[in-house]
Amino acid sequence: MIVAKFGGTSVQDADAIGRVIDIIGDKRARQPIVIVSALGGATNVLLEIAHKAAGGELLIALHMIEQLRDRHLREANTLLQGSSEREEIAAEVSASFDELAHLAEAFRTLGYLTPRSLDTVAAVGELLSAQIVAAAFRHRGLPGVCIDARDVMRTNDFFTRAEPDTDEIDRAAREFILPVIERGSIAIMGGFVGSAPGRVTTTLGRGGSDYSASLVGAAVAAEAIEIWTDVDGMLTADPRIVPKAQLIERIRFDEAAELASFGAKVLHPSTIAPAVQRGIPVYVFNSRNPSGRGTMIAFEAPRMAVRAIAGKRNTTVVKLRSARMLLAPGFLRRVFEVFETHRTSVDVVATSEVSISVTVDDPSNLDAVVADLMEFGDVAVERQRGIVAIVGAGIADGSRAIADAIAAIGAVPIHMASLSATGINFTLVIDDEQVVPAMQRLHRTFFESAA
Ligand code: ADP
Ligand code: ASP
Ligand code: MG
Repeated sequence: MIVAKFGGTSVQDADAIGRVIDIIGDKRARQPIVIVSALGGATNVLLEIAHKAAGGELLIALHMIEQLRDRHLREANTLLQGSSEREEIAAEVSASFDELAHLAEAFRTLGYLTPRSLDTVAAVGELLSAQIVAAAFRHRGLPGVCIDARDVMRTNDFFTRAEPDTDEIDRAAREFILPVIERGSIAIMGGFVGSAPGRVTTTLGRGGSDYSASLVGAAVAAEAIEIWTDVDGMLTADPRIVPKAQLIERIRFDEAAELASFGAKVLHPSTIAPAVQRGIPVYVFNSRNPSGRGTMIAFEAPRMAVRAIAGKRNTTVVKLRSARMLLAPGFLRRVFEVFETHRTSVDVVATSEVSISVTVDDPSNLDAVVADLMEFGDVAVERQRGIVAIVGAGIADGSRAIADAIAAIGAVPIHMASLSATGINFTLVIDDEQVVPAMQRLHRTFFESAA
């Protein structure tokens, strides 16, 4: 069995979905399970619809709903020309948009959104794409069966970034997915979407379809997890920032996980853990270039000092200075409890005897965090910061990588620096506007120079 996930651009229209069917058609013997994202950009539109409606702009929201309905119907009609299912699928698609219009009216009346209602709206994209793609498979003579992600992807109720219940997912995969595979059919399920107890719709967070794929892969003990996207694989940097980024043919799980969590959007940061747990290799391929070599992510890869560069913009730094930290056991625990209480995750950490600096990605609960931290000492918040990281299993192995990285960055202010305990990630916090030029300089140093 393999799990193959196709991201938004890989299912953006009828042509792209046609390519998905070709790719999977060639892999039938390997018993594929297909995970699809929403049609490219649909999740953004859905969330915008919800925000517009709650903000009082109902007419705009309804207009956007009609445009999104038309887009889905157009692609479904193109894919299902001559299919006996065409009308039925069109009716189901339309019914979802009617329901969305009712929801939009309710949001307008309420004037606010809850994380739970946002998930209900965001999930529509994947629930529809899975239905459309499965019907398109059948029309092309392949036995596609649509699986409702809410039956399989069981989560807690942390809406907008729900956490999976892997025991429940293992059980549900046996109940809902394996029978489909055993009778020779192709299971097709939306990524990103899940359900909390009571079958309340949740989502795994933006970009979460990759995570759905690895959770399903782990649940069925797949032989491989394939992430099909719009670039040739994992590259030495984000190609939008570094046009000369090169394909990485093999990379270790831990390196890929670091890259993902430090900004390489090609993989959702949680994707690697389930694969590592069951030892399943993860591949990244380009759905527009299916014969490409792609990237293989596994336990072993040829050792390189620096495998890739990552970067993240819009990071916030929180600095705490406290005289009480001196010789106080348990101090760090109490500080981190504050972040935990306010569900704010911390990325980079640096400490001294009297101070601690951390970066946070999502500052939505920062006011509450700062208020609680003030009990320990002086707190300063620095916005407009960014992170650059070099990642590679050999960074700390006596190589020149760290010295070269600092030299490459040049004379820009460095606000924090951190070398991970495993020595595979060296991170610098710099001004936000320096992230792009710093990534370009780092890439030149490590990948574009003749040496
Ligand atoms: P999908 O919709 O298929 O999930 P995403 O947009 O989420 O695709 O992720 C693919 C994008 O990730 C690429 O188009 C690329 O711009 C970006 N990206 C960032 N860093 C990297 C990297 N190191 N290697 C490859 N792609 C990267
Ligand atoms: N469609 C969702 C998003 O845009 C999930 C995904 O594509 O991975 O965030
Ligand atoms: Mg993605």
